[in-house]
Amino acid sequence: MSKVLIPKERGAGETRVAATPETVAKLIALGFEVEVERGAGKTASFLDEAYTEAGATIVDGGENSWRGADLLLKVGPLDGDEATWLAEGSLLIGLLAPFDNRDAVRRLAAAGVTSLPMELLPRTTLAQSMDVLSSQANIAGYRAAVMAALELDRYFPLLMTAAGTIRPAKVVIIGAGVAGLQAVATARRLGAVVEVSDIRPEVQEQVESLGGHFIPLPETEEDGSGGGGYAKEMTADFLRRQREILKEHLAVANVVITTAAVPGKPAPKLVGADMVAAMQPGTVIIDLAAERGGNCELTRVDEEVDSDGVRILGPSNLAAGMAHDASMLYARNLLALVQHVTGEDGIAIDAEDEIVGGMLLTHGGEIRHPGFTEEDSP
Ligand code: NAD
Repeated sequence: MSKVLIPKERGAGETRVAATPETVAKLIALGFEVEVERGAGKTASFLDEAYTEAGATIVDGGENSWRGADLLLKVGPLDGDEATWLAEGSLLIGLLAPFDNRDAVRRLAAAGVTSLPMELLPRTTLAQSMDVLSSQANIAGYRAAVMAALELDRYFPLLMTAAGTIRPAKVVIIGAGVAGLQAVATARRLGAVVEVSDIRPEVQEQVESLGGHFIPLPETEEDGSGGGGYAKEMTADFLRRQREILKEHLAVANVVITTAAVPGKPAPKLVGADMVAAMQPGTVIIDLAAERGGNCELTRVDEEVDSDGVRILGPSNLAAGMAHDASMLYARNLLALVQHVTGEDGIAIDAEDEIVGGMLLTHGGEIRHPGFTEEDSP
């Protein structure tokens, strides 16, 4: 019987776990034997006893456990020597950040490990149930709005009290993809007035259906839709004109949440230092694109910058702050992929399969993904 191992995550600040008692039971029903490293789910409020009840065996983890696994389910990238702990022919699934960990990728290929990084999953209808980037971005958008409400020295909703009326907070959200739309919905539920900027015109309807106001785009022939729900890179002239429009809206905002992203490109710089200087003191900026360079020029990853009373926060892993539900959704996404690659005779990797082929990183002793060159090969 094939063995699955769920190790404890060792990455800094990582609190999520790649399988929950619910998905463990389903993995067992699929024919796997499941081992969970002691305490792996503790930071996400899943205790060892719950895994045992679901049918898993609790193990000590470390090199020996890894070597005995046919399938290893991870959240974050491998740490230290872990890339050398996996057995030849085993399968590794997780958010492996392959382009930031080329050395680990070479080691995985050399060891004959098959790896499927979740960030390379094709974002197609067929793969929707496996889309960890969406499930985790949704959480990030929700958390960003809640964080902004807590950080702001004002109310979000309109309040009429005996001491007079409080005006609702003005929230500007830049980028209305997965994270942005959830931030719109959450800020609206908390009672804020929400304005939204996005370069894909089709988003306007979605924003308005959530009660947000769409900020008009610069009048040009350029269309920001790149297909598949993604944006394309805009010209410098377009972005300059967009910033001019945004500047007026940001000057009267109390909260700015930025989530603008273009696939494969650094985050567009949409909030310049001059725009921050024109904002009111007390304004809070939450920059979700911090890790990809930031949508604001002053953002620093996982730090808080104070610019004349405007505070800019660049949290990098908001989903980890809500580890229980983040793990529930993440684990279900991974289970859907495992079900997809498991047949009657166990795991079968088909490089021709639309989903597997699109995300296959290492297999049969080679690096298979086109994002890597021959020089990267072991
Ligand atoms: P997404 O692709 O679904 O959404 C990005 C949106 O930005 C799209 O709607 C796109 O049209 C828009 N956009 C692109 N250029 C723009 C511009 N010039 N002006 C306005 N809008 C523009 O991506 P997502 O999954 O929502 O993620 C958004 C960002 O948040 C990414 O950078 C992602 O890495 C980051 N993220 C951060 C965390 C965290 O904890 N910090 C967690 C998840 C995602």
